[in-house]
Amino acid sequence: MDLRKYYRKNRKAIITATTGILYLGGWSIGYTTTLENISAIILVIATIVGGYDIAKKSYNTLKNRTIGINTLVTIAAIGAILIGKYWEAAAVVFLFTLGNYLEGRTMRKTRNALQELLEMTPNKATVEHGGEQKEIPAREVEEGETVIIKPGDKIPVDGEIIKGESTVNQAPVTGESKPQHKKQGDEVYAGTINQKGGLKVTATGTGSDTTIQRIIEKVEEAQEAKSPTETLLERFSKYYTPSIILLSIGTFILTKNTLMSLTLLVIGCPGALVIGPPVSIVSSIGNAAKNGVLMKGGKHLEKAGKIDLVAFDKTGTLTKGETKIKDIKGFSYSQSEVLRFAGIAEKNSEHHLADAVLEKIKEEKNKEIKTDGGKIIEKTNIPDPNSFDVKAGKGIIATYNGKNILVGNNSLLKENNISPTEDMVSYVGKRENKGETVVYITIDGKVIGVISFEDEIRKKSKDIVQKLKSSGIKTVMLTGDNDSTASSVAKKVGIDEYRSELLPEEKQNIIKEFREEGYVVAMVGDGINDAPSLATADVGIAMGAAGTDTAIETADMALMADDLKRIPYAINLSKSTRKNIYENIGIALFTVVFLLTGVLTSYIHLALGMLVHEGSVLAVILNGMRLLKYKI
Ligand code: ADP
Ligand code: MG
Repeated sequence: MDLRKYYRKNRKAIITATTGILYLGGWSIGYTTTLENISAIILVIATIVGGYDIAKKSYNTLKNRTIGINTLVTIAAIGAILIGKYWEAAAVVFLFTLGNYLEGRTMRKTRNALQELLEMTPNKATVEHGGEQKEIPAREVEEGETVIIKPGDKIPVDGEIIKGESTVNQAPVTGESKPQHKKQGDEVYAGTINQKGGLKVTATGTGSDTTIQRIIEKVEEAQEAKSPTETLLERFSKYYTPSIILLSIGTFILTKNTLMSLTLLVIGCPGALVIGPPVSIVSSIGNAAKNGVLMKGGKHLEKAGKIDLVAFDKTGTLTKGETKIKDIKGFSYSQSEVLRFAGIAEKNSEHHLADAVLEKIKEEKNKEIKTDGGKIIEKTNIPDPNSFDVKAGKGIIATYNGKNILVGNNSLLKENNISPTEDMVSYVGKRENKGETVVYITIDGKVIGVISFEDEIRKKSKDIVQKLKSSGIKTVMLTGDNDSTASSVAKKVGIDEYRSELLPEEKQNIIKEFREEGYVVAMVGDGINDAPSLATADVGIAMGAAGTDTAIETADMALMADDLKRIPYAINLSKSTRKNIYENIGIALFTVVFLLTGVLTSYIHLALGMLVHEGSVLAVILNGMRLLKYKI
């Protein structure tokens, strides 16, 4: 093997080991023989071998006008040699080098918690061109190309399934341990594992433009970003280090005890204090990422540890967000006419209610084709409206063939001076009390029917709300839906409080009000419709973020899967992280006070001081790393 390469790669380990051997050698010669000069020379060499890098780093930081730990250690080592304390000098340098080496190793391990994710993405992909298959490097696949994925293979690109059906283990991206069923039209992500069936997908994201890469990139950014506590501690240590030097000089003037002054320099370093919190945060962010929760930085993590109110959007968050038509009622119009007019008005809307209407029309058409054995009653697609106007939080106003069509809720009707009959109102009330969402369809000011929609409540909603409540967190549901529907859903999931008939900006205002009342507020919603409220909350949590770049970009925390269980997990992890940070600060401060007392009372000298100091640095690192193992 190339020795030079080996040396470069293992420089730190080699220097640490060499310093250690020289130190032990010098020390044992001095201890067992009378060859004091030889012992001294070897110890000085040990100091130089280990101290060279430290002195160099010290020189670099001094150039930037900052005094760091390296400078303190350098002064201490040189000072010790000057007063003939060779053993002390070598010991300090060796312990410091060893500490640094271990610190570097463990830190790398912490930061690389995500390395496994990166290794998930395969290097090769099989693409299909005009019926021919070819294996090419995965990052050379272009968007829109067809990629073949065999059972058991890792998926090389983000894509949409065009053929085949399978189960996919999405744990690397979403943290879900249960494999997900995937069929035509579904999305798959690079780095996940195809299990049972062969798949043909159209690539939608390749190379560095995949969900998994974006997650890794965001996690790295998040790990770099400084939390308020970290910033505070760093600012503190900027003043702290020079004051230790002053204390050391003062001690020398008063006591003329050089060794004690040098010892003060070494033990006064704020090493554990500065290194502790970042380890806690980096570990925690790594743990979260592996469990499908993207934390956007220590700042949010520290905030999330203080959350005492969680506001949920109803649609798509507490409910599945798969709105389906439950019932159509015509008033002197047939059901299919009501559906058809609703379809015309909703044709160009992107609202989830519109999707449900158009979906139903598609279904009905298929049914007709099947049952009538080829006799298709209505072949034509739904026509476009001549004009349409979206009334946010209320509905749609459209015109078609000279007719004025309204589809929407009570407030839309009121605004347009349309009043439903008592019978209609009582029918609507009955359906709403079941938790359904009901909209009116009117033509030229006359109600022709109502459509009731149902959006199933997620199975986990009740459990999760209960879990949050039992850990003392207030739960609130916000929705644009009407009061009866909202009340029914709120009751079913057991939420503390709900607010209904809200326009998007009203949701935002409510979040603001809660914050003004002193709550630390988390808002859970989808990253797109609920973006304003997510931004207003102390911590904005986006659900089902895999595949939606905006959610990954804008939320403070993004849950890759649509899994509510991640919310209490994320909050509890944040709480544990805060606790861990304080433990680390505690360990660091206790050590400093303990050492200072020890030194000033002459119980602790240079080498022992360094040993305890390095011990405290390793202790906070190991304590922080416990968060890597935190379980859901
Ligand atoms: P949410 O996301 O909670 O459903 P929205 O603000 O999107 O809230 O909608 C609130 C209410 O406004 C809906 O429950 C419905 O009554 C009415 N509405 C909004 N958009 C439409 C639409 N395109 N068609 C029919 N009704 C609509
Ligand atoms: Mg919504």
